[in-house]
Amino acid sequence: MKDPTPVDVLICGAGAAGLTLAIDLARRGVRFRLIDKLDQPFAGSRGKGIQPRTQEVFEDLGVIDRLTAMGGHYPAQRVHHADGTWRDGQGLVVEAPSAGEPYRMPLLVPQNRTEAVLRARLAAFGHAPDQAHELVSFTQDAAGVEATIRTPDGVEVRRCRYLIGADGGRSTIRQALKIDFAGRSLGVRAIVADIQLDGLARDVWHQFNPGDMQKHVSFCPLPQSDLFQLQAPVPTGGDVDLSPGGLQSFIDARVPQTGLAVLGVAWASAYSMSAWLAARFRVGRVFLVGDAAHVHPPTGGQGLNTSVQDAYNLGWKLGAVLAGAPETLLDTFEEERRPIAGDMLRLASDLLDAAKRGEMRRGREVQQLDLGYGASSLSLNATAGPRALRAGDRAPDLPLIGAGGQRRRLFDLLQGPHWTLIASGPAPVSLARKGLHIHEIGTGLALRDPIGQFSASYGLADGDMVLIRPDGYVGAVMDATGLARFPAYSAWLR
Ligand SMILES: Cc1cc2nc3c(=O)[nH]c(=O)nc-3n(C[C@H](O)[C@H](O)[C@H](O)COP(=O)(O)OP(=O)(O)OC[C@H]3O[C@@H](n4cnc5c(N)ncnc54)[C@H](O)[C@@H]3O)c2cc1C
Repeated sequence: MKDPTPVDVLICGAGAAGLTLAIDLARRGVRFRLIDKLDQPFAGSRGKGIQPRTQEVFEDLGVIDRLTAMGGHYPAQRVHHADGTWRDGQGLVVEAPSAGEPYRMPLLVPQNRTEAVLRARLAAFGHAPDQAHELVSFTQDAAGVEATIRTPDGVEVRRCRYLIGADGGRSTIRQALKIDFAGRSLGVRAIVADIQLDGLARDVWHQFNPGDMQKHVSFCPLPQSDLFQLQAPVPTGGDVDLSPGGLQSFIDARVPQTGLAVLGVAWASAYSMSAWLAARFRVGRVFLVGDAAHVHPPTGGQGLNTSVQDAYNLGWKLGAVLAGAPETLLDTFEEERRPIAGDMLRLASDLLDAAKRGEMRRGREVQQLDLGYGASSLSLNATAGPRALRAGDRAPDLPLIGAGGQRRRLFDLLQGPHWTLIASGPAPVSLARKGLHIHEIGTGLALRDPIGQFSASYGLADGDMVLIRPDGYVGAVMDATGLARFPAYSAWLR
């Protein structure tokens, strides 16, 4: 079957990465299609930690309140001792939200629920993933990609301008492109299971025998459900019985003194931990995002978050190029995201080593708020002297006041698929462009900085301009002289 209506983008894989990209393209009006080989969406809790930076992304995509309502914050950790006593502690370094960083706590949301919220958001744009559609092969030429898809109604051939491999760690697309997936197996195998369990309180995350790879087992209560997520290392070889009876025997052997009873198993899996990074994230018209491009151990809760942020980085670039921006903009996806994925792999592997010693504690480094693109070819610092905020930095949130005295948040001004220019003082009329929202801050202007937080955080001199990308990172910081570089830079704006 040859498809008569070509799309611009075909996204292969409706996990967290594919869904995020689909929402971002949908709100830009890009013609795309999202397919997934599974008959039904994936049902397990696996990636349950939504880091603060991803919460900001989800605010922009319009899903954060719903996700927060469906999730909860990470509970305290309860380490149980063999004599039946325990010690409660916090496994996270917790800091209060601030004006610049409104999200400082990871959210605990089972991955299947996060994906359900993303699907609901996509439905509001009139789109849904095509389930039971498997990409089996593709070819590409200078103008586009031709994909062969196995569907319940037969084989379909679909032409698109760009193909996105959001198809997970075993990516068919990465393998077809013969992209080197370098890394190592970390020598740890584990089980993860969503179980109904009798015998444990639901207000803490229970840890038994931490640091002992033969005996460790943990039970994290999943919010707004009767499920616990069981996680435990298991021997690297041999079968693991994931049935209710098998998991009961497993728990009895590891924590015989507790009398815990498995009442049901909603989902269970055994997997080997590894750290792999694709040598390339782009080959011609084909891109890799998420686990297709990098596979991490679960320690530190980085995988889903890095996957969502890959998609968020690629979405606006695809939208801009399809709207006429230079094709070279797409090269900056790999340039910006691959180093970040490499750093995440090292962080998650280091945390796994700490977990083996029973010492894992998650600090600011897992929250992804300090990630940025300072070294990117898209980052332009065009000021006579340094400013507090540099091109490539994440643009912080801040409170402002509208000319009529109404409260405004900077993140509200950024929300949406557009670029934003913030001027410290009046902005020349010549800067106006399609797709660019311009805001002037200062006395007698549209916005005011009531208690000087904007000026302290952004550090702009009078007449400076900061250009914020659609993904919330600073693209350019310019003073009155540096503004001469704006016309050339604005080629990326669509
Ligand atoms: C135990 C565990 C705990 C974890 N904890 C965390 C955590 O706390 N925080 C965190 O950030 N991450 C965590 N992760 C990692 C997280 O689950 C993954 O990083 C995340 O799922 C990656 O999303 P993705 O969309 O890239 O890929 P996936 O979720 O794997 O989705 C890929 C999709 O592509 C589809 N697909 C594959 N091949 C094809 C094809 N040929 N045609 C069509 N469709 C196809 C699949 O069916 C699938 O739906 C954890 C993982 C595990 C195993």
